[in-house]
Amino acid sequence: MTETNLISESWNMPRKIQIAEPPPKIPVEVMAVSHLGDGIFRIRLRSPFTDWKPGDCIAVYGPDQSGISRPYSLCGSIFDSELELWVRKFPGGQVSEYLCSCRVGDEIRVSPPFGYFRPAEPENADKLYFATGTGIAPFLSAIHSGIAKPGEIFWGLRQPLTYQPDFPVRMFLSQSVQADAGQGRITQVLPNLHFTRDTHVYACGLDKMIEEVLGYFSERGLPEAQLHRECFFTAL
Ligand SMILES: Cc1cc2nc3c(=O)[nH]c(=O)nc-3n(C[C@H](O)[C@H](O)[C@H](O)COP(=O)(O)OP(=O)(O)OC[C@H]3O[C@@H](n4cnc5c(N)ncnc54)[C@H](O)[C@@H]3O)c2cc1C
Repeated sequence: MTETNLISESWNMPRKIQIAEPPPKIPVEVMAVSHLGDGIFRIRLRSPFTDWKPGDCIAVYGPDQSGISRPYSLCGSIFDSELELWVRKFPGGQVSEYLCSCRVGDEIRVSPPFGYFRPAEPENADKLYFATGTGIAPFLSAIHSGIAKPGEIFWGLRQPLTYQPDFPVRMFLSQSVQADAGQGRITQVLPNLHFTRDTHVYACGLDKMIEEVLGYFSERGLPEAQLHRECFFTAL
């Protein structure tokens, strides 16, 4: 076994996940690439996988033989014949730049799905979802797979995207004003939120948002087992 990216199971307990060694590199075809705005690309892949859960990622390998890979959360429906990724392009990024530059018909190499962030579980719990940027991916998967009710979703973006959500979501734009979206950061909703001692809270995306959101609910008595996180990015 080998250890890969540092991600954590609960809000304040970093840990390393373990994946089988050597990680399989499965060729998949790129079916579509589109820019959603603000450097976020939607990439669809022909899916060789039939058994995965919302919250799972795949590792995408870089273009060379170095073996470098990065995890990306699956954001489509588990019933879809294609996989969908939302990827923020980092200029100079070893994998994201390559991935966002792919064209229809290209072949890339990926690992089988893995992960333990489970936004649809437990099934009947009241849930609050918080995402920044591409951190919406696991929540999209849970909702589009029909195994999570939209509930209360708060989504922080820097700028508006071309994507129009087909479920209720409260969006907050940190860099521009839009009539139907709040201006500011999603954390500003925290003092006005209703929750019970049984509510589960899920936060995905930037580490600072996750710490702030889950720290808020922890301080107000929600047990750690109800605070779920998936950290994609560390604020610079
Ligand atoms: C479990 C998990 C799931 C993930 N899912 C997704 C996903 O669905 N979508 C997605 O877009 N990403 C996701 N990520 C992040 C992704 O795995 C990569 O870390 C990211 O794409 C950068 O990789 P890279 O190889 O392009 O960049 P690297 O080569 O690792 O770094 C490139 C450059 O980016 C800069 N950089 C790094 N972080 C930042 C930052 N916060 N702001 C500005 N510059 C920065 C670095 O300084 C460096 O110069 C996920 C991460 C984890 C751990």
